[in-house]
Amino acid sequence: MVSEQMYKLGTKKSTIRTIFEYGQKRAAEVGAENVFDFSLGNPNVPAPDFIQAAAVDILLHSDPTEVHGYTIAPGKPQVRSALAADLNRRFGMNITEKNLFLTAGAAASVTITMKALAEEGDEFAAIAPFFPEYRVFAEACGGKFVAAAAKTDDFQIDFAALAAVITSRTKAVIVNSPNNPSGAVYSEETLRHLAGLLRAKAEEFGHPIFIIADEPYREIVYDGLTVPCIPLFYENTIVCYSYSKSFSLPGERIGYIIVPDSVADFSRVYGAIAGAARVLTHVNAPSLWQLVIARCAGQTADLGIYARNAALLYEGLTAAGFDCIRPQGAFYLFPKALEADDYAFCARAREHDLLLVPGADFGCPGYFRAAYCVCTEMIERALPRFQKLAETYHE
Ligand code: PLP
Repeated sequence: MVSEQMYKLGTKKSTIRTIFEYGQKRAAEVGAENVFDFSLGNPNVPAPDFIQAAAVDILLHSDPTEVHGYTIAPGKPQVRSALAADLNRRFGMNITEKNLFLTAGAAASVTITMKALAEEGDEFAAIAPFFPEYRVFAEACGGKFVAAAAKTDDFQIDFAALAAVITSRTKAVIVNSPNNPSGAVYSEETLRHLAGLLRAKAEEFGHPIFIIADEPYREIVYDGLTVPCIPLFYENTIVCYSYSKSFSLPGERIGYIIVPDSVADFSRVYGAIAGAARVLTHVNAPSLWQLVIARCAGQTADLGIYARNAALLYEGLTAAGFDCIRPQGAFYLFPKALEADDYAFCARAREHDLLLVPGADFGCPGYFRAAYCVCTEMIERALPRFQKLAETYHE
């Protein structure tokens, strides 16, 4: 009577959702302050004041039919022009409004891009550890999802593993840097190597292989690191961006796709993006938020709390004996679990009221994710629990 695939997608709870619900139940039993929920990537930093000021000003002083009306499908031209100018200034890109398509956030950006590119039998490759929804997005577009094994010493890219999953049917490789869940930022060297591999494979198979650069964490980086702009390294890069994390606006649904001129068959790719948005009933990105982001282009939120939380959790966990790379960006730590079975490890952590997500969910068993977009004081109080948890492995 209904699509089995959709039914399963709608009713089978994700691990993160299950953990979240467990956390709510446990909080009712022992008090919210005694449950240490590191499971969700929901920013705890409030949206910056300049966002609120812009939204209020626009609501009070702009023509309501402009603020709440339909826009053309790619988004208001003046908004796209303002964003293009800012991207050119910040990243040395060379784009105009015709290279931008505004969306309802990164999930929409990635799904629309995949739908635009996917032909019968096409494959989308991700690099472990990866955002689990990529599989859902790829399969929803009729594509096949494949994953390359992780390079766990530094969470850059294992090129032998990636080469092994690229076939004549590979349409695109999804690249997520700063990475959820590893916290790694791909270096220029990694990206040059990736570009070389994809050009060689494209030549071998006689068709372009795209990079889908999913970059919702682009501005969240530490120690003065800059995130290399992937289209400057590889011509067939389509960028998917969102303001969910950088401006703490995950519930407002606003982001964009960049299709640079250098992309093979630019006008057909851009046209297919418009077509994919249409069939996915993505009529237009929310009008109010289009206006807000245009007004706030180039401003940055104070993301310093994530740097402080990253340092606190990293230092605390490594002192407790956990093995982990120093986070370079995003707001996740991805340490090695203290036993091979990451599900068993996370179950044991739960006995200490530490809610963590098993690495297997991200295609990287033996690790776990701790999201530190939480209040600093909770991390401070959680550290002795991590210490106790580690001690149970030495008893
Ligand atoms: N891509 C990655 C890597 C993410 O971590 C997330 C959200 O956590 C998304 C995409 C989806 O973001 P959005 O809220 O913009 O749809």
